[in-house]
Amino acid sequence: MLKGKSAIVTGSTSGIGLGIARSLAAQGCNVMLNGFGDATQIEKLRAALAAEHKVTVLYSSADMAKPLEVAAMVDQVARRFGSVDVLVNNAGVQHVAPVDEFPVEKWDQILAINLSSAFHAIRIALPGMRARNWGRIINIASAHGLVASPFKSAYVAAKHGLVGLTKSVALEVAGKGITCNAVCPGYVLTPLVETQIQDRAKERGISREDAINNVILERQPSKEFVKIEEIAALTVFLAGDAAASITGAAYSIDGGWTAQ
Ligand code: NAD
Repeated sequence: MLKGKSAIVTGSTSGIGLGIARSLAAQGCNVMLNGFGDATQIEKLRAALAAEHKVTVLYSSADMAKPLEVAAMVDQVARRFGSVDVLVNNAGVQHVAPVDEFPVEKWDQILAINLSSAFHAIRIALPGMRARNWGRIINIASAHGLVASPFKSAYVAAKHGLVGLTKSVALEVAGKGITCNAVCPGYVLTPLVETQIQDRAKERGISREDAINNVILERQPSKEFVKIEEIAALTVFLAGDAAASITGAAYSIDGGWTAQ
């Protein structure tokens, strides 16, 4: 079903994005990896993924905070693979601070990477999807795209914005073989959350385990981290033909967080 199609996963050198890239490659998709990290490690990852799944895997170091670099990466995939069939807007960063102390440059960075990069990738990928009457856009939002937490104003604003963008795009392309959905995970144990665990433990003088159970997972009723593989499986499902009628949705995958 996805065999031979091409996918871009932004922010896929680590965490959730890497898991999604692996799962799409396992389905036979050619994949563009993107993100930061050690060049040798990334090249190893790229080559291993390509060899394991017998697909073409490319890597772009495009900075998702820079519109021209986002656009160039999407163009590169369209030229190299002939199409961008599946676009997963996943790149994201976090900063935690009270709103009146929130560093202005952090606000701008979070909005640029977590929200505007999705707009830029979508606007460049969409004409090709329209021409082929097929496309899947999957925006990795967050439970924070649906509800808020204190001290995460930029992240919450960006993720709510991403859910809104998802709905607008879905309406614009409805009936054209293209869907646009958001995935809203609760807490997943990735480098992004590891930093928060360590910061909370340090602030409160508590153990890593207490920071996980009593602070980080406080609002996640399952008291378990969501697994990267679960988010990847949902993304693969949304990319497939069985999800053709699902569009404009915001899928919670959060251990019950937003049911409260
Ligand atoms: P992560 O820190 O493990 O990975 C982030 C990825 O984005 C990395 O590959 C990094 O190199 C890349 N990246 C960062 N800045 C970039 C930039 N300017 N340009 C290009 N790439 C950039 O984080 P993660 O937890 O896997 O998060 C992935 C997405 O999932 C984010 O959008 C995040 O908001 C969302 N999310 C995460 C959680 C969680 O609990 N971890 C929960 C809900 C939503």
